[in-house]
Amino acid sequence: MEEEKFEELWRIFNEKVSEKHPIFQAAKIAEETGEAINLVFKLVGFRRESYNIDEVRERLSGELADIVITTFICAKVCGINLWKTLDKKLDTEINRWRNYYVQ
Ligand SMILES: [Mg+2]
Repeated sequence: MEEEKFEELWRIFNEKVSEKHPIFQAAKIAEETGEAINLVFKLVGFRRESYNIDEVRERLSGELADIVITTFICAKVCGINLWKTLDKKLDTEINRWRNYYVQ
């Protein structure tokens, strides 16, 4: 996995950023989420302009990655081990979908 790269990013971030505010990091997630939503709107044609769909999809993939990265940094700043939580939550979600039957 990319776990090591995330941890490397955190080491550098932690060393270079002297003041780390959870609220600022949470706002960064919201900022990246807004950017991603805007591109999803473009992808499905909700914006009254024409776009190169492949380019929109490429940019969207970058914004979705930004959401994951800012979420990881926010968790670190809040003192949360996201890997442990992710593992637990993934098991919960997998079980939920396994037990879900379409009527
Ligand atoms: Mg971004």
